[in-house]
Amino acid sequence: MTLVFATHNLGKLKEVKALLPHLTVKGLTEIGCTEDIVEDAPTIEGNAILKAKYVKENYGLDCIADDSGLEIEALNGDPGVFSARYAGLEKDPQKNIEKVLRNLAAQSNKNAQFKTVIAYAKQETITTFEGICKGQIIEEQRGENGFGYDPIFIPESHTQTFAEMTDTEKGQLSHRAKAIEQFIGHLDKS
Ligand code: IMP
Repeated sequence: MTLVFATHNLGKLKEVKALLPHLTVKGLTEIGCTEDIVEDAPTIEGNAILKAKYVKENYGLDCIADDSGLEIEALNGDPGVFSARYAGLEKDPQKNIEKVLRNLAAQSNKNAQFKTVIAYAKQETITTFEGICKGQIIEEQRGENGFGYDPIFIPESHTQTFAEMTDTEKGQLSHRAKAIEQFIGHLDKS
C-alpha cells in the first residue's frame, strides 16, 4: 500500500517512514507537490483534515496529514492551533516560549498538553486519530534537544523537559507517537 504523508519536513517524513515500515510512504515532494498547503483552519483537527483532503482531491492518493500544538489550561487552550506563530508570523520558537512564560507568570496552574491530530483520507472517507501528552510548563528553559516548546515542557511522571530527553525517550512518550500508534491500530483492524 502506498500512502502520502502530507509534509515537506524531511525530519518528520523520516520519522513516519520508520514507524510504518510495511507501507510505502511518500512525502509531498516525492509526489510532485511543491506548493505550501495553506493551514488556515481554526482548530488543530481542522488543519490536519484540510491537508489530507487537499492531497486526496488534487493528487487522487490516499494520504495522512498531521497537525500539533501546545494547549495550556490557564490560557484557555492557547497557543493551540497558533502554536507555531504565537508570537508572530516569523514563527520564532524563542519568542513563542517567552510569550508563554510572560502570559503564565501570574498563574499557579501550569498544566498543559501537547496534542497531535492525524487525518487519514482514504477513498471518500476522512478518519482522525488523536495523541495527547499531558504535563507541566516550567518557568525556566532547560535542555538543548528537540524543537518548539520542548525546553519548558515536562511530561507527566517525569522530571526532565522534552528538550533534556534523547529523541528515543521523547519518541516513546510524545503526542505524535501516540497519534501514529492509534493510526497503526486502525490499519491493523482494517
Ligand atoms: P506541527 O503541526 O507539528 O508543525 O506543530 C506546530 C507547532 O506546535 C510547532 O511549530 C511547535 O511550536 C509546536 N509543537 C508541536 N509539537 C511539538 C513538540 O513535540 N515539541 C515542541 N513544540 C511542538
